[in-house]
Amino acid sequence: MTSKAKALKNALSGIDVAFDDESLFNASVDNSRYSFKPLAVIKIKKSEEIGAALKAVSGLEIPISVRGGGSGCCAGALPFEGGAVLDLSALNFIEIDKVSWTAHVGAGAINSRIDALANEAGLAYPPDPSSKNYSTIGGNIACNAGGLRAAKYGATRDYVMALKVYTAEGRELNLSRPLKKFASGLNLKDLFIGSEGTLGVIAEAWLKLVKKPECRRTALAYFADDCAAFNCAAKILSANLMPSVMEFMDADSVECAAKFSNAPAKKSAMLLLELDGSASEVEQSSKLLGEIFSGLSESFDFAESPEGAEKLWAMRRACSPAMFLLNNTKINQDIVLPILKTPEFFWFFKALGEKYGLKTASFGHAADGNYHIHFMYDGSDAAQKAAAQEAMHEAILKAVELGGAVSGEHGLGILKAKYLPVQNGESEAAFMRSIKKLFDPKGILNPRVMFDPADLSGRSPLQNLKLPWDAK
Ligand SMILES: Cc1cc2nc3c(=O)[nH]c(=O)nc-3n(C[C@H](O)[C@H](O)[C@H](O)COP(=O)(O)OP(=O)(O)OC[C@H]3O[C@@H](n4cnc5c(N)ncnc54)[C@H](O)[C@@H]3O)c2cc1C
Repeated sequence: MTSKAKALKNALSGIDVAFDDESLFNASVDNSRYSFKPLAVIKIKKSEEIGAALKAVSGLEIPISVRGGGSGCCAGALPFEGGAVLDLSALNFIEIDKVSWTAHVGAGAINSRIDALANEAGLAYPPDPSSKNYSTIGGNIACNAGGLRAAKYGATRDYVMALKVYTAEGRELNLSRPLKKFASGLNLKDLFIGSEGTLGVIAEAWLKLVKKPECRRTALAYFADDCAAFNCAAKILSANLMPSVMEFMDADSVECAAKFSNAPAKKSAMLLLELDGSASEVEQSSKLLGEIFSGLSESFDFAESPEGAEKLWAMRRACSPAMFLLNNTKINQDIVLPILKTPEFFWFFKALGEKYGLKTASFGHAADGNYHIHFMYDGSDAAQKAAAQEAMHEAILKAVELGGAVSGEHGLGILKAKYLPVQNGESEAAFMRSIKKLFDPKGILNPRVMFDPADLSGRSPLQNLKLPWDAK
């Protein structure tokens, strides 16, 4: 054990700290698949331990990275500078209040568990990232996670009423109140939502719940090409139809997913929709949607049962693993586009693929303009890797130029920190850095995340790493 590790162990007496290889490796990776080995993993069980741990760590000036479920895509929870990891996953209590329609939860509570317990009370917690069975509410709040139903219900930010947080030096702050309304002071709670663990550690949250929808109906339509699908999505939105889900898959993704699932060959773009509400609302919206699909799609289908709906979801669920049929490695981003600029962006994106000789695949959330774009390349070919990185850089700049955003839900983390001034401009980025300094004067919390880009040259994601959500 190094002298730093010994000092940490002594300073954290009474708190569970792990130094074994397995714990250190598990805390060294997230869904970015990069790996940076920590000095120690501090396993938090009670909120008060966070304050004590941070006081001790900041006293020793050891950098500290905050971790929930480790499903983040941009290395935000990883200890790039080799410091300690603060693991919040065991702080996972959930209390549902049926009267005020709120949930009080520990930062480590798993997203889908909160919704399941709310459902038992006839309520729902709508933000539903695809990682909902693995990601924690602390990570969701830190990244302002969105989900499939963000089109209608919004993202995590829309459901956070109040937070208990700890600053880098271990000071407890109670931000906002779990009340429907109040008007006093500045809204510091919202600064923490989307701050990716750079301002402080979220210990507890009070969340807004809604009434569970009475009824849901799923529909799927195929289109001659990507542009026809985008036009149909715009038509649906302008008809004042607000589906809870409107997922787009481009023709390349559909082709891969069909092959991957041993389904009949298909190369058409796809929209997958879910309507929800009261039975009469869903009936009325289905009728209107059917009329729109009849005019604009090649073919369409409505599910008549939950099993039928599951069948319609099969292509969408297959698209992530299926794209590896195009090549063995991917570079991807989750850009956001103004809805009317979507066709222009994808025309540019496909042209980039041709220019750099790379296969592309894209899918995403058509109602909020948030798309997961991918260039596929041979990971063992350095020239292809460089071409893919350059092509993605051009794609991100184009999305921003069109009035879009670098990230819709994954955040910047360590991997995309260089895009902060690109997206927000130098002046706004400078204000953000000043705020970071106010909460974390020594700069020990989540170093290199968002504000201070790291040099990643010579570092690559681990190959053949199996993470819990990879199981298919
Ligand atoms: C298969 C898959 C599907 C996904 N789908 C979606 C999706 O649909 N929508 C979406 O938004 N994201 C999605 N993601 C990305 C990821 O799941 C989300 O970013 C999620 O919010 C991360 O939560 P986590 O608990 O795993 O956080 P971690 O990965 O542990 O951490 C992510 C960031 O949050 C910070 N953080 C974590 N906990 C705290 C805390 N208590 N206090 C302060 N900071 C904290 C970390 O420091 C880090 O910067 C997906 C990921 C996978 C693997």
